[in-house]
Amino acid sequence: MAWRYRLAGAQTQQLLQKVLRKRTGFTRGSKMKRLFHLLSACALLLAAAAAASAQSTPYPAEDLPKVYDRLLSKINAIPIYDNHAHPGFADDNDVDAMASPPDESSVLRLRDDNPEFVTASKFLFGYPYDDFKPEHAKWLADRKKAAEAAGGQAYFDSILDKLNVETCLANRAFMAPYLNPKRFHWVFFADAFFYPFDNHDQAASTPDMGVYIPLQEKMLVRYKKQMNVDSLPADLAGYENFVRNTMADNQKRGGVAIKFEAAYFRTLYFSDPPREKADAIYAKYRSGGVPAAEDYRLFQDYIFRLIVDQAGKLKLPVHFHSAVGIGDYFSLRQGHVLNLENVLRDARYKNVVFVLLHGGWPYEREAALLTAVKNVYLDTSLQSEMLYPAQFKGVLKQFLTLYPDKMMFGSDAFPFNDALGAEESLWLAAHTSRTALAGALAELVSERAISEDKALELAHLYLHDNAAKLYGGTK
Ligand SMILES: [Zn+2]
Repeated sequence: MAWRYRLAGAQTQQLLQKVLRKRTGFTRGSKMKRLFHLLSACALLLAAAAAASAQSTPYPAEDLPKVYDRLLSKINAIPIYDNHAHPGFADDNDVDAMASPPDESSVLRLRDDNPEFVTASKFLFGYPYDDFKPEHAKWLADRKKAAEAAGGQAYFDSILDKLNVETCLANRAFMAPYLNPKRFHWVFFADAFFYPFDNHDQAASTPDMGVYIPLQEKMLVRYKKQMNVDSLPADLAGYENFVRNTMADNQKRGGVAIKFEAAYFRTLYFSDPPREKADAIYAKYRSGGVPAAEDYRLFQDYIFRLIVDQAGKLKLPVHFHSAVGIGDYFSLRQGHVLNLENVLRDARYKNVVFVLLHGGWPYEREAALLTAVKNVYLDTSLQSEMLYPAQFKGVLKQFLTLYPDKMMFGSDAFPFNDALGAEESLWLAAHTSRTALAGALAELVSERAISEDKALELAHLYLHDNAAKLYGGTK
Protein backbone atom coordinates (compact mmCIF):
# COMPACT_ATOMS: atom_id res chain seq x y z
CA MET A 1 0.00 0.00 0.00
CA ALA A 2 2.99 2.34 0.47
CA TRP A 3 2.89 3.53 -3.16
CA ARG A 4 -0.55 4.99 -2.59
CA TYR A 5 0.70 7.26 0.13
CA ARG A 6 3.73 8.30 -1.91
CA LEU A 7 1.32 9.23 -4.66
CA ALA A 8 -0.81 11.18 -2.20
CA GLY A 9 2.31 13.08 -1.11
CA ALA A 10 3.25 13.94 -4.71
CA GLN A 11 -0.29 15.08 -5.43
CA THR A 12 -0.24 17.31 -2.36
CA GLN A 13 3.01 18.86 -3.57
CA GLN A 14 1.53 19.62 -6.99
CA LEU A 15 -1.59 21.11 -5.43
CA LEU A 16 0.51 23.28 -3.16
CA GLN A 17 2.51 24.55 -6.12
CA LYS A 18 -0.71 25.56 -7.87
CA VAL A 19 -2.08 27.36 -4.83
CA LEU A 20 1.14 29.27 -4.28
CA ARG A 21 1.29 30.38 -7.89
CA LYS A 22 -2.26 31.76 -7.64
CA ARG A 23 -1.86 33.42 -4.26
CA THR A 24 1.50 35.11 -4.86
CA GLY A 25 1.65 35.54 -8.57
CA PHE A 26 5.26 34.36 -8.38
CA THR A 27 6.65 31.44 -10.27
CA ARG A 28 10.31 31.99 -9.49
CA GLY A 29 12.52 33.55 -6.82
CA SER A 30 14.59 32.18 -3.94
CA LYS A 31 12.24 33.41 -1.15
CA MET A 32 9.39 31.81 -2.90
CA LYS A 33 11.35 28.59 -3.35
CA ARG A 34 12.31 28.38 0.33
CA LEU A 35 8.73 28.98 1.39
CA PHE A 36 7.57 26.41 -1.07
CA HIS A 37 10.03 23.76 0.14
CA LEU A 38 9.08 24.40 3.75
CA LEU A 39 5.39 24.12 3.05
CA SER A 40 5.75 21.08 0.88
CA ALA A 41 7.83 19.34 3.55
CA CYS A 42 5.01 20.04 6.02
CA ALA A 43 2.47 18.66 3.56
CA LEU A 44 4.49 15.49 3.11
CA LEU A 45 4.75 15.04 6.86
CA LEU A 46 1.00 15.47 7.24
CA ALA A 47 0.33 12.98 4.44
CA ALA A 48 2.73 10.49 6.05
CA ALA A 49 1.01 10.90 9.43
CA ALA A 50 -2.40 10.35 7.84
CA ALA A 51 -1.03 7.28 6.10
CA ALA A 52 0.37 5.86 9.35
CA SER A 53 -2.93 6.21 11.23
CA ALA A 54 -4.84 4.44 8.47
CA GLN A 55 -2.31 1.66 8.12
CA SER A 56 -2.29 -1.45 10.26
CA THR A 57 0.96 -2.57 11.86
CA PRO A 58 2.16 -5.92 13.19
CA TYR A 59 2.92 -4.51 16.64
CA PRO A 60 0.57 -2.79 19.07
CA ALA A 61 1.30 0.83 19.95
CA GLU A 62 2.06 1.96 23.48
CA ASP A 63 -1.59 2.82 24.07
CA LEU A 64 -2.53 -0.92 24.28
CA PRO A 65 -3.07 -1.16 28.08
CA LYS A 66 -5.20 1.99 28.09
CA VAL A 67 -7.28 0.82 25.13
CA TYR A 68 -7.76 -2.53 26.90
CA ASP A 69 -8.98 -0.85 30.11
CA ARG A 70 -11.38 1.40 28.22
CA LEU A 71 -12.78 -1.47 26.16
CA LEU A 72 -13.07 -3.87 29.11
CA SER A 73 -15.18 -1.47 31.16
CA LYS A 74 -17.55 -1.01 28.22
CA ILE A 75 -17.56 -4.75 27.42
CA ASN A 76 -18.44 -5.58 31.05
CA ALA A 77 -21.55 -3.45 30.63
CA ILE A 78 -22.83 -5.39 27.58
CA PRO A 79 -25.48 -7.96 28.57
CA ILE A 80 -24.59 -11.46 27.37
CA TYR A 81 -26.76 -13.76 25.29
CA ASP A 82 -25.42 -17.26 26.04
CA ASN A 83 -25.86 -19.54 23.03
CA HIS A 84 -25.14 -22.79 24.88
CA ALA A 85 -25.31 -23.88 28.51
CA HIS A 86 -26.59 -26.66 30.78
CA PRO A 87 -28.03 -24.69 33.68
CA GLY A 88 -29.36 -26.59 36.68
CA PHE A 89 -28.57 -28.06 40.07
CA ALA A 90 -26.01 -30.86 40.40
CA ASP A 91 -28.56 -33.58 41.19
CA ASP A 92 -30.80 -32.66 38.25
CA ASN A 93 -30.21 -35.40 35.67
CA ASP A 94 -31.97 -33.42 32.95
CA VAL A 95 -29.12 -30.88 32.60
CA ASP A 96 -27.95 -33.03 29.68
CA ALA A 97 -29.23 -36.03 27.72
CA MET A 98 -25.97 -37.85 28.35
CA ALA A 99 -23.68 -38.29 31.35
CA SER A 100 -19.94 -38.15 31.87
CA PRO A 101 -18.15 -41.36 30.93
CA PRO A 102 -16.26 -43.39 33.56
CA ASP A 103 -12.74 -42.19 34.43
CA GLU A 104 -13.06 -39.00 32.46
CA SER A 105 -9.83 -36.96 32.24
CA SER A 106 -10.23 -33.33 33.15
CA VAL A 107 -8.16 -30.54 31.62
CA LEU A 108 -6.12 -28.51 34.10
CA ARG A 109 -8.34 -25.44 34.24
CA LEU A 110 -11.52 -27.40 34.93
CA ARG A 111 -10.15 -29.31 37.92
CA ASP A 112 -11.68 -28.16 41.15
CA ASP A 113 -8.33 -27.00 42.54
CA ASN A 114 -8.34 -24.16 39.99
CA PRO A 115 -8.14 -21.09 42.27
CA GLU A 116 -10.33 -19.16 39.82
CA PHE A 117 -13.30 -21.15 41.12
CA VAL A 118 -12.67 -19.70 44.59
CA THR A 119 -12.84 -16.23 43.03
CA ALA A 120 -16.09 -17.22 41.31
CA SER A 121 -17.68 -18.54 44.53
CA LYS A 122 -16.60 -15.44 46.44
CA PHE A 123 -18.04 -13.16 43.74
CA LEU A 124 -21.34 -15.03 43.48
CA PHE A 125 -21.94 -16.12 47.09
CA GLY A 126 -19.40 -14.42 49.35
CA TYR A 127 -17.67 -17.79 49.86
CA PRO A 128 -15.62 -17.33 53.05
CA TYR A 129 -12.79 -19.80 52.28
CA ASP A 130 -9.77 -19.85 49.99
CA ASP A 131 -9.89 -23.49 48.93
CA PHE A 132 -12.33 -26.35 48.41
CA LYS A 133 -11.30 -28.69 51.22
CA PRO A 134 -14.30 -30.97 51.81
CA GLU A 135 -15.32 -29.21 55.02
CA HIS A 136 -15.19 -25.85 53.20
CA ALA A 137 -16.87 -27.03 50.00
CA LYS A 138 -19.77 -28.20 52.16
CA TRP A 139 -20.58 -24.54 52.89
CA LEU A 140 -21.13 -24.03 49.17
CA ALA A 141 -23.01 -27.29 48.60
CA ASP A 142 -25.35 -26.50 51.53
CA ARG A 143 -26.10 -23.10 50.09
CA LYS A 144 -27.06 -24.61 46.73
CA LYS A 145 -29.15 -27.35 48.34
CA ALA A 146 -31.01 -24.63 50.26
CA ALA A 147 -31.66 -22.71 47.02
CA GLU A 148 -32.95 -25.90 45.40
CA ALA A 149 -35.19 -26.70 48.37
CA ALA A 150 -36.58 -23.17 48.40
CA GLY A 151 -37.66 -23.64 44.78
CA GLY A 152 -38.74 -20.75 42.58
CA GLN A 153 -37.05 -19.10 39.63
CA ALA A 154 -35.41 -16.21 41.45
CA TYR A 155 -32.20 -18.11 42.26
CA PHE A 156 -30.94 -18.76 38.73
CA ASP A 157 -32.29 -15.39 37.58
CA SER A 158 -30.08 -13.79 40.24
CA ILE A 159 -27.03 -15.70 38.94
CA LEU A 160 -27.66 -14.31 35.45
CA ASP A 161 -28.11 -10.82 36.90
CA LYS A 162 -24.86 -10.98 38.87
CA LEU A 163 -22.97 -11.97 35.72
CA ASN A 164 -24.85 -9.54 33.47
CA VAL A 165 -26.23 -12.37 31.35
CA GLU A 166 -29.56 -11.41 29.83
CA THR A 167 -30.62 -14.67 28.14
CA CYS A 168 -29.28 -18.21 28.28
CA LEU A 169 -30.06 -21.11 25.96
CA ALA A 170 -30.58 -24.16 28.18
CA ASN A 171 -29.52 -27.33 26.37
CA ARG A 172 -31.30 -29.85 28.56
CA ALA A 173 -33.15 -33.15 28.22
CA PHE A 174 -36.21 -31.34 29.55
CA MET A 175 -36.72 -27.94 31.12
CA ALA A 176 -36.92 -27.50 34.90
CA PRO A 177 -39.65 -25.52 36.68
CA TYR A 178 -36.97 -23.59 38.58
CA LEU A 179 -35.64 -21.99 35.36
CA ASN A 180 -37.48 -18.86 34.27
CA PRO A 181 -38.56 -19.43 30.63
CA LYS A 182 -38.23 -15.70 29.95
CA ARG A 183 -34.48 -15.89 30.61
CA PHE A 184 -33.71 -19.58 29.85
CA HIS A 185 -34.77 -20.88 26.44
CA TRP A 186 -34.85 -24.61 25.78
CA VAL A 187 -32.62 -26.39 23.24
CA PHE A 188 -33.83 -29.97 23.05
CA PHE A 189 -31.98 -33.09 21.88
CA ALA A 190 -32.32 -34.99 18.60
CA ASP A 191 -29.98 -37.97 19.06
CA ALA A 192 -32.48 -40.32 20.72
CA PHE A 193 -34.29 -40.61 17.36
CA PHE A 194 -31.17 -42.43 16.08
CA TYR A 195 -31.70 -45.41 18.41
CA PRO A 196 -35.12 -47.07 17.94
CA PHE A 197 -33.77 -50.63 17.47
CA ASP A 198 -31.96 -53.21 19.59
CA ASN A 199 -28.86 -51.32 20.76
CA HIS A 200 -26.83 -54.11 22.35
CA ASP A 201 -24.02 -53.86 19.80
CA GLN A 202 -23.99 -50.07 20.03
CA ALA A 203 -23.76 -50.10 23.83
CA ALA A 204 -21.05 -52.78 23.80
CA SER A 205 -18.84 -50.95 21.30
CA THR A 206 -16.92 -48.96 23.96
CA PRO A 207 -17.19 -48.53 27.75
CA ASP A 208 -18.34 -44.94 27.15
CA MET A 209 -21.10 -46.03 24.77
CA GLY A 210 -22.19 -48.38 27.56
CA VAL A 211 -23.02 -45.19 29.51
CA TYR A 212 -24.40 -43.10 26.65
CA ILE A 213 -26.68 -45.50 24.79
CA PRO A 214 -28.99 -46.50 27.69
CA LEU A 215 -29.52 -42.76 28.29
CA GLN A 216 -30.52 -42.27 24.63
CA GLU A 217 -32.95 -45.16 24.96
CA LYS A 218 -34.38 -43.48 28.05
CA MET A 219 -34.83 -40.22 26.13
CA LEU A 220 -36.66 -42.04 23.34
CA VAL A 221 -38.99 -43.65 25.90
CA ARG A 222 -39.72 -40.20 27.34
CA TYR A 223 -40.41 -38.76 23.88
CA LYS A 224 -42.75 -41.69 23.13
CA LYS A 225 -44.59 -41.08 26.39
CA GLN A 226 -44.83 -37.37 25.60
CA MET A 227 -46.42 -38.17 22.23
CA ASN A 228 -48.59 -41.04 23.56
CA VAL A 229 -46.81 -43.56 21.37
CA ASP A 230 -46.86 -46.97 23.09
CA SER A 231 -44.64 -48.96 20.79
CA LEU A 232 -42.56 -48.25 17.70
CA PRO A 233 -44.83 -47.25 14.78
CA ALA A 234 -45.58 -50.07 12.34
CA ASP A 235 -43.66 -48.61 9.42
CA LEU A 236 -41.10 -45.95 8.53
CA ALA A 237 -43.82 -43.43 7.62
CA GLY A 238 -45.19 -43.78 11.15
CA TYR A 239 -41.72 -43.31 12.67
CA GLU A 240 -41.11 -40.26 10.47
CA ASN A 241 -44.37 -38.73 11.73
CA PHE A 242 -43.40 -39.48 15.32
CA VAL A 243 -40.06 -37.68 14.85
CA ARG A 244 -41.59 -34.66 13.10
CA ASN A 245 -44.44 -34.37 15.61
CA THR A 246 -42.14 -34.63 18.63
CA MET A 247 -40.02 -31.81 17.24
CA ALA A 248 -43.09 -29.63 16.63
CA ASP A 249 -44.40 -30.43 20.12
CA ASN A 250 -41.05 -29.56 21.72
CA GLN A 251 -41.13 -26.25 19.90
CA LYS A 252 -44.59 -25.59 21.35
CA ARG A 253 -43.17 -26.39 24.80
CA GLY A 254 -40.66 -23.56 24.34
CA GLY A 255 -37.91 -25.21 22.28
CA VAL A 256 -35.93 -22.63 20.28
CA ALA A 257 -33.36 -24.97 18.68
CA ILE A 258 -32.49 -28.65 18.35
CA LYS A 259 -29.12 -30.15 19.30
CA PHE A 260 -27.09 -33.11 18.07
CA GLU A 261 -24.42 -34.48 20.36
CA ALA A 262 -23.92 -37.16 17.70
CA ALA A 263 -20.15 -36.61 17.65
CA TYR A 264 -20.00 -38.62 20.89
CA PHE A 265 -21.72 -41.62 19.32
CA ARG A 266 -20.80 -41.79 15.66
CA THR A 267 -19.16 -39.92 12.77
CA LEU A 268 -20.40 -36.43 11.92
CA TYR A 269 -20.30 -37.43 8.26
CA PHE A 270 -23.88 -38.07 7.16
CA SER A 271 -24.47 -39.81 3.84
CA ASP A 272 -27.65 -39.34 1.86
CA PRO A 273 -29.30 -42.75 1.50
CA PRO A 274 -32.53 -43.20 -0.48
CA ARG A 275 -35.74 -43.67 1.49
CA GLU A 276 -36.17 -47.27 0.27
CA LYS A 277 -33.01 -48.31 2.10
CA ALA A 278 -34.17 -46.77 5.37
CA ASP A 279 -37.61 -48.28 4.84
CA ALA A 280 -36.16 -51.78 4.42
CA ILE A 281 -33.90 -51.39 7.49
CA TYR A 282 -36.82 -50.17 9.61
CA ALA A 283 -39.01 -53.08 8.47
CA LYS A 284 -36.24 -55.56 9.24
CA TYR A 285 -35.38 -54.40 12.79
CA ARG A 286 -38.56 -52.75 14.07
CA SER A 287 -39.64 -55.86 15.95
CA GLY A 288 -36.21 -57.11 17.01
CA GLY A 289 -32.80 -58.25 15.93
CA VAL A 290 -29.53 -56.38 16.34
CA PRO A 291 -28.84 -54.23 13.26
CA ALA A 292 -25.49 -54.55 11.49
CA ALA A 293 -23.38 -51.44 12.13
CA GLU A 294 -23.63 -50.35 8.48
CA ASP A 295 -27.43 -50.72 8.46
CA TYR A 296 -27.79 -48.72 11.65
CA ARG A 297 -25.55 -45.95 10.32
CA LEU A 298 -27.51 -45.69 7.05
CA PHE A 299 -30.79 -45.55 8.95
CA GLN A 300 -29.40 -42.77 11.18
CA ASP A 301 -28.14 -40.85 8.13
CA TYR A 302 -31.64 -40.95 6.69
CA ILE A 303 -33.32 -39.86 9.95
CA PHE A 304 -30.72 -37.11 10.36
CA ARG A 305 -31.75 -35.58 7.04
CA LEU A 306 -35.41 -35.86 7.96
CA ILE A 307 -34.71 -33.99 11.21
CA VAL A 308 -32.72 -31.26 9.40
CA ASP A 309 -35.53 -30.89 6.87
CA GLN A 310 -38.17 -30.60 9.60
CA ALA A 311 -35.98 -28.15 11.57
CA GLY A 312 -35.92 -25.95 8.46
CA LYS A 313 -39.72 -26.09 8.18
CA LEU A 314 -40.16 -25.26 11.86
CA LYS A 315 -37.42 -22.58 11.68
CA LEU A 316 -35.51 -24.27 14.48
CA PRO A 317 -31.74 -23.72 14.31
CA VAL A 318 -29.77 -26.99 14.34
CA HIS A 319 -26.94 -27.15 16.90
CA PHE A 320 -24.00 -29.56 16.62
CA HIS A 321 -21.44 -30.53 19.21
CA SER A 322 -18.46 -29.77 16.98
CA ALA A 323 -15.39 -29.98 19.21
CA VAL A 324 -13.26 -32.49 21.01
CA GLY A 325 -15.35 -34.40 23.55
CA ILE A 326 -14.81 -36.00 26.93
CA GLY A 327 -13.96 -39.65 27.51
CA ASP A 328 -11.23 -41.99 26.30
CA TYR A 329 -13.21 -43.10 23.26
CA PHE A 330 -14.26 -39.81 21.71
CA SER A 331 -12.96 -39.89 18.13
CA LEU A 332 -11.29 -36.64 17.08
CA ARG A 333 -11.35 -37.81 13.48
CA GLN A 334 -15.05 -38.70 13.44
CA GLY A 335 -16.01 -35.63 15.43
CA HIS A 336 -14.04 -33.26 13.17
CA VAL A 337 -16.22 -30.35 12.10
CA LEU A 338 -15.27 -30.77 8.42
CA ASN A 339 -17.31 -33.98 8.36
CA LEU A 340 -20.35 -31.70 8.29
CA GLU A 341 -19.24 -29.78 5.21
CA ASN A 342 -21.41 -31.72 2.76
CA VAL A 343 -24.49 -30.93 4.86
CA LEU A 344 -23.63 -27.29 5.61
CA ARG A 345 -23.01 -26.57 1.93
CA ASP A 346 -26.05 -28.50 0.69
CA ALA A 347 -28.29 -26.09 -1.25
CA ARG A 348 -31.37 -28.03 -0.12
CA TYR A 349 -30.71 -26.80 3.42
CA LYS A 350 -30.00 -23.16 2.69
CA ASN A 351 -33.04 -22.20 4.76
CA VAL A 352 -31.86 -24.22 7.74
CA VAL A 353 -29.75 -22.38 10.31
CA PHE A 354 -26.77 -24.43 11.54
CA VAL A 355 -24.80 -23.55 14.67
CA LEU A 356 -21.39 -25.13 15.31
CA LEU A 357 -21.19 -25.32 19.10
CA HIS A 358 -17.75 -24.96 20.70
CA GLY A 359 -16.50 -23.45 17.44
CA GLY A 360 -15.03 -26.75 16.23
CA TRP A 361 -12.12 -26.58 18.69
CA PRO A 362 -9.30 -27.63 18.19
CA TYR A 363 -10.23 -27.22 14.53
CA GLU A 364 -11.62 -23.77 15.17
CA ARG A 365 -10.22 -22.22 12.01
CA GLU A 366 -12.02 -24.78 9.86
CA ALA A 367 -15.23 -24.08 11.77
CA ALA A 368 -14.77 -20.32 11.39
CA LEU A 369 -14.28 -20.67 7.64
CA LEU A 370 -17.46 -22.75 7.39
CA THR A 371 -19.38 -19.75 8.73
CA ALA A 372 -18.75 -18.10 5.37
CA VAL A 373 -21.85 -20.10 4.37
CA LYS A 374 -24.79 -17.73 4.89
CA ASN A 375 -26.80 -20.02 7.16
CA VAL A 376 -23.89 -21.28 9.30
CA TYR A 377 -22.95 -19.76 12.70
CA LEU A 378 -20.70 -20.77 15.55
CA ASP A 379 -20.35 -20.24 19.26
CA THR A 380 -17.31 -20.33 21.50
CA SER A 381 -18.78 -22.38 24.36
CA LEU A 382 -16.38 -24.85 25.99
CA GLN A 383 -13.37 -22.93 24.63
CA SER A 384 -14.37 -20.09 26.95
CA GLU A 385 -13.93 -22.44 29.94
CA MET A 386 -11.05 -24.63 28.82
CA LEU A 387 -8.74 -21.93 27.48
CA TYR A 388 -7.27 -19.17 29.61
CA PRO A 389 -7.96 -15.61 28.46
CA ALA A 390 -4.46 -15.23 26.96
CA GLN A 391 -5.06 -18.33 24.80
CA PHE A 392 -8.67 -17.57 23.96
CA LYS A 393 -7.76 -14.01 22.94
CA GLY A 394 -5.98 -15.37 19.85
CA VAL A 395 -9.04 -17.42 18.86
CA LEU A 396 -11.36 -14.41 19.15
CA LYS A 397 -8.94 -12.15 17.29
CA GLN A 398 -9.06 -14.54 14.36
CA PHE A 399 -12.82 -15.16 14.54
CA LEU A 400 -13.79 -11.50 14.74
CA THR A 401 -11.71 -10.56 11.73
CA LEU A 402 -13.32 -13.28 9.59
CA TYR A 403 -17.13 -13.24 9.86
CA PRO A 404 -17.95 -11.24 12.99
CA ASP A 405 -21.66 -11.36 12.25
CA LYS A 406 -21.59 -15.17 12.70
CA MET A 407 -19.74 -15.58 16.00
CA MET A 408 -21.57 -15.93 19.31
CA PHE A 409 -20.72 -16.17 22.98
CA GLY A 410 -21.36 -19.54 24.62
CA SER A 411 -20.51 -20.85 28.06
CA ASP A 412 -21.28 -24.59 28.18
CA ALA A 413 -21.92 -23.92 31.89
CA PHE A 414 -22.46 -27.25 33.61
CA PRO A 415 -22.73 -28.39 37.26
CA PHE A 416 -19.42 -30.13 38.07
CA ASN A 417 -20.36 -31.37 41.55
CA ASP A 418 -22.48 -30.48 44.59
CA ALA A 419 -20.25 -27.53 45.45
CA LEU A 420 -19.04 -26.25 42.10
CA GLY A 421 -22.05 -25.71 39.92
CA ALA A 422 -23.21 -24.28 36.62
CA GLU A 423 -23.07 -20.96 38.50
CA GLU A 424 -19.25 -20.95 38.87
CA SER A 425 -18.92 -22.49 35.42
CA LEU A 426 -20.86 -19.58 33.90
CA TRP A 427 -18.71 -17.11 35.83
CA LEU A 428 -15.58 -18.70 34.35
CA ALA A 429 -16.89 -18.52 30.77
CA ALA A 430 -18.13 -14.94 31.17
CA HIS A 431 -14.84 -13.79 32.77
CA THR A 432 -12.73 -15.51 30.11
CA SER A 433 -14.80 -14.23 27.22
CA ARG A 434 -15.07 -10.62 28.37
CA THR A 435 -11.35 -10.26 29.15
CA ALA A 436 -10.19 -12.18 26.06
CA LEU A 437 -12.57 -10.14 23.91
CA ALA A 438 -11.30 -6.86 25.34
CA GLY A 439 -7.73 -8.10 24.80
CA ALA A 440 -8.32 -9.19 21.19
CA LEU A 441 -10.11 -5.98 20.29
CA ALA A 442 -7.60 -3.76 22.11
CA GLU A 443 -4.80 -5.35 20.09
CA LEU A 444 -6.68 -4.77 16.85
CA VAL A 445 -7.28 -1.13 17.79
CA SER A 446 -3.71 -0.60 18.95
CA GLU A 447 -2.36 -2.25 15.79
CA ARG A 448 -4.48 0.26 13.86
CA ALA A 449 -6.57 -2.47 12.22
CA ILE A 450 -9.91 -1.16 13.46
CA SER A 451 -11.23 1.88 15.31
CA GLU A 452 -12.41 1.77 18.92
CA ASP A 453 -15.99 2.35 17.76
CA LYS A 454 -15.72 -0.62 15.41
CA ALA A 455 -14.29 -2.71 18.27
CA LEU A 456 -17.34 -2.01 20.41
CA GLU A 457 -19.65 -2.79 17.51
CA LEU A 458 -17.95 -6.22 17.15
CA ALA A 459 -18.18 -6.79 20.92
CA HIS A 460 -21.94 -6.22 20.86
CA LEU A 461 -22.36 -8.62 17.92
CA TYR A 462 -20.39 -11.39 19.61
CA LEU A 463 -21.69 -11.07 23.16
CA HIS A 464 -25.33 -10.44 22.38
CA ASP A 465 -26.69 -9.15 19.10
CA ASN A 466 -25.91 -12.05 16.73
CA ALA A 467 -27.70 -14.55 18.98
CA ALA A 468 -30.58 -12.18 19.79
CA LYS A 469 -31.16 -11.73 16.07
CA LEU A 470 -30.94 -15.46 15.38
CA TYR A 471 -33.44 -16.59 18.00
CA GLY A 472 -35.69 -13.53 18.05
CA GLY A 473 -37.03 -11.72 21.07
CA THR A 474 -35.08 -11.38 24.28
CA LYS A 475 -36.57 -10.92 27.75
ZN1 LIG B 1 -22.74 -28.58 26.10
